[in-house]
Amino acid sequence: MPAKFHQFPCLKDNYGVLVHDPASGATASIDAPDADAVLDALATTGWTLTDILLTHHHADHIQGVAGLKARYPAVRVVAPAKEAQGIGGVDLGVAEHDTVSVGQLSAKVIETPGHTAGHIVYWFEAEDVLFAGDTLFALGCGRVFETPLDVMYESLMKLTHLPLETQVYAGHEYTLSNARFALTVDPDNAVLRERAMGIERMREAGTPTLPTTIEIELATNPFLRADNPAVKAAIGMADADPAAVFSELRERKNKA
Ligand code: ZN
Ligand code: FE
Repeated sequence: MPAKFHQFPCLKDNYGVLVHDPASGATASIDAPDADAVLDALATTGWTLTDILLTHHHADHIQGVAGLKARYPAVRVVAPAKEAQGIGGVDLGVAEHDTVSVGQLSAKVIETPGHTAGHIVYWFEAEDVLFAGDTLFALGCGRVFETPLDVMYESLMKLTHLPLETQVYAGHEYTLSNARFALTVDPDNAVLRERAMGIERMREAGTPTLPTTIEIELATNPFLRADNPAVKAAIGMADADPAAVFSELRERKNKA
């Protein structure tokens, strides 16, 4: 029986996702932005929470843990080993190349330092689904708070080596703002322009723009296109190396 994924908006612009293994009945919450919203999603789906997979230590990703543990005392909390102490209440700390099971499903842990120094993402290889947390967004990437900018660039490059058809879920609905920024640094990209128009319509209708795919992000996300001659030329950095171009893009977006 194939895995099931249930995405729901919560807080101001976060997404929660439940991952369900019908064979075992196991269900994981990807991050825990808001206990009540996750509990509502569990009620809607009829699933029983068994695991919480945390991507990083920020409050809008972990603050629901206590409320979920209160309702499901046996739940297992998985988090980046490097951030487990700061998060508290973690049952399993994980690092690069570790595998996390959710019933009979399994996710590979990929370390993506940048947004936070210990940030991890979870790749369900058999399903080809990635939970990117606040590392990779649709048409954007997370702000770089805890490492040099080039470390974040390396983390993003790791994700581009996943299969093109990988479905990418992310922590936030920032896509409209990201699209408007992307058009300023990659204005002649026809695929981006088309996508940006679609995103305007989707957000007007209240439709989520996630999940996305690695393929569409490679074609349109400027933070993955720091080696693209058109992007480099558009920001006046035709001869710069991609990590420097990425850093300039990230700084421009911070100010946008
Ligand atoms: Zn964050
Ligand atoms: Fe966040």
